[in-house]
Amino acid sequence: MTTFVDRVELHVVAGNGGHGCASVHREKFKPLGGPDGGDGGRGGSVTLVVDRDVTTLLDYHFHPHRKATNGKPGGGGNRTGAHGQDLVLPVPDGTVVLDRKGEVLADLVGEGTTFVAGEGGRGGLGNAALASPRRKAPGFALLGEPGEEREIVLELKTVADVALVGYPSAGKSSLISVLSAARPKIADYPFTTLVPNLGVVTAGETVYTVADVPGLIPGASEGKGLGLEFLRHVERCSVLVHVLDCATLEPDRDPVTDLDVIERELAQYGGLDGRPRLVVLNKTDIPDGQDLAEMVRPELQARGLAVFEISAVSRKGLRELSFALAELVAQARAAVPAETATRVVIRPRAVNDAGFTVTSDGEGFFRVRGEKPERWVRQTDFTNDEAVGYLGDRLNRLGVETELIKAGAREGDGVAIGSDDDAVVFDFEPSMTGGAEMLGRRGEDHRIAETRPAAQRRRDREARRNDSAQREFEEFRPFD
Ligand code: GDP
Ligand code: MG
Repeated sequence: MTTFVDRVELHVVAGNGGHGCASVHREKFKPLGGPDGGDGGRGGSVTLVVDRDVTTLLDYHFHPHRKATNGKPGGGGNRTGAHGQDLVLPVPDGTVVLDRKGEVLADLVGEGTTFVAGEGGRGGLGNAALASPRRKAPGFALLGEPGEEREIVLELKTVADVALVGYPSAGKSSLISVLSAARPKIADYPFTTLVPNLGVVTAGETVYTVADVPGLIPGASEGKGLGLEFLRHVERCSVLVHVLDCATLEPDRDPVTDLDVIERELAQYGGLDGRPRLVVLNKTDIPDGQDLAEMVRPELQARGLAVFEISAVSRKGLRELSFALAELVAQARAAVPAETATRVVIRPRAVNDAGFTVTSDGEGFFRVRGEKPERWVRQTDFTNDEAVGYLGDRLNRLGVETELIKAGAREGDGVAIGSDDDAVVFDFEPSMTGGAEMLGRRGEDHRIAETRPAAQRRRDREARRNDSAQREFEEFRPFD
């Protein structure tokens, strides 16, 4: 079985963020020296980068699972955990990234173009970073966030100016080899000879690339043979060239019928109607071929097609053809502004960073969605009451409780934070009636309060003055 690897499914897993550390500084005769748990390190991200030296997706075919490393947890003594290592995956120029539903996530054209396929999880803050004048000795730390995990599909679409289409053995590969000055090896597929060839042609001032699109047969657009695989490559080319065989010995074929068959396949595939095209009648070095070419030329021209009689073997008619192609390529390039020639879509997903939404099902169940609340939930160690209390405080400061009350939530109602399939559900317990706040402020440790030295007291006083500013700061605290 032949496998043409220009489409692979890739499973990427970014690294998890390291957990923050909850630790209290200890020294002889100073049993409670304050929180000193360090932050966890960021998880490594998985990034695709266009690398001209990479010409195939073969590597990902053999190794479809790629994972970046996790961040390390924070430690006592304010030790920050190491970041996970980013995983950089080189991909060929012209790689299209899709999700499993076929939606295009990115179109990677041009050396160095990057796409973050999986974002590393943030490290959790240690309790040292969570300490504030109001919460001097947090007995908890934040969890690291899980790294993003995604199934993506990579498709390779050759970035060539001209695509040669035609029946097998019409002479496409031969034509490329005689037209082009250089033939970069675009693929090295050990298990198939059906490889799109790419040639660089210089005609006058214009330098352009020509791709040979093998494997077009009747039914290709429905996936017969390897047709679909190769039609993907045609999609990018700005000029189409029909290579017609004037010397075929097959009884039911002739250049015009061949053209119609290939055109039908192109039409079935779709999206190529507006592409300029011309016709090449090949193998006119053979006397019968020359006769046939002369016979069909008027009919093709009557369809408005420019016709070139050539021979890839005797190299007849190549100069005219290469200049005609150069002109069409130049026109196509002029029609496309340079900036839009590089089509890159990076992370088109909407990121809701500022707000959150509260929706109600009308029966005492509410759903909170939003980047921050959902992240905060992921960072919470639900086995630690203090951590849960801290989450409640954060949500309140953001106004989640107020909005829930506005939406009609009452004590005991169900509140889910997160999406349908990934949510944490709480019983609504408004803090105004809850009384948790009345029992004393969370995170205060009277032992520290009583033994703090004068310098510490002064610092605390100052800090209290900055308290409101501090609270703002906590909300927008950068994580690394
Ligand atoms: P492709 O399948 O379209 O790439 O066709 P190839 O380039 O592999 O050519 C198929 C066969 O046709 C080979 O045996 C070539 O030598 C032959 N061929 C290609 N061009 C010409 C030509 O202009 N004249 C003659 N006589 N043979 C040709
Ligand atoms: Mg070929």
